[in-house]
Amino acid sequence: MSESDRVRYEVPEPGVARVVLARPEKKNAQDKRMLYHLDDAFSQATADDDIKVIILAADGTDFSSGHDLARTAFVSEEEPFRPIHLQGGFTAKGAEAILAVESEVFVDLCWRWRNIPKPTIAQVHGRVIAGGLMLVWPMDLVIASEDATFSDPTVAFGLNGLEYHDHLWQLGARKAKEILFTGRPLTADEAEKVGMVNQVVPREQLEETTLAMARTIAERPLFGLKTAKLSINQGLEAQGQYTHIKSAYALHCLGHTHFMALGGSPIERNGKGKIRELSGAKNSTATSYH
Ligand code: ZN
Repeated sequence: MSESDRVRYEVPEPGVARVVLARPEKKNAQDKRMLYHLDDAFSQATADDDIKVIILAADGTDFSSGHDLARTAFVSEEEPFRPIHLQGGFTAKGAEAILAVESEVFVDLCWRWRNIPKPTIAQVHGRVIAGGLMLVWPMDLVIASEDATFSDPTVAFGLNGLEYHDHLWQLGARKAKEILFTGRPLTADEAEKVGMVNQVVPREQLEETTLAMARTIAERPLFGLKTAKLSINQGLEAQGQYTHIKSAYALHCLGHTHFMALGGSPIERNGKGKIRELSGAKNSTATSYH
């Protein structure tokens, strides 16, 4: 991939690519540029036949504070959309633009990364807030440090949760409802207990533990790895995972349309303060671009 001011591409050892979110001054808040650069990096690692495992890591104090709040983060004339999926209507009026933008950069990109035909590992530390979960959840394995926390406080915006609505599959129904209803962050230990995280380690061991896992996986033949991944993913699809995500996303868009009809904003504006409080993210750009 070409030089990026959002994402770094590394090959820490043979067979292993490491993609690093590199916007620490914004706590790795995601804008459109970051998400497309991330896709470039994943595409490079996928196309390189010498790479067997892909790690997604992050610079700075937090893995990701979610979607960048700045107005221009996702809709900007200087940086028009270059959709990867067959999608249009990004500047249309009403719900049409919301549907186009969020389908393209949130739901469809996440699903694309969920289906990368190689094992992927999220190496997570610090806070993962709302949109941050949309980078962790599409990965196959998650190694977290003890300080990691995971939250989706976007119900305070009057919405049903974030766009890639995978809470049920990641957490089980009860925990999913709890974090959505309360907005409180799950600790790494809690996330491990419900199966969302594979392993929790002290912060200073995070990088080496993740690399060791990647090294073990890279010793296996790639064909076995990709068909093993497909087998599990197809099982999830047989259970309805994709249909579920898409139907919950439709309710998410209904939420935006509801608030647009009420007051010209796609969210309940009063939710911002509550979300900052829940996220402990006073100075961060968490958690939604709206
Ligand atoms: Zn949205």
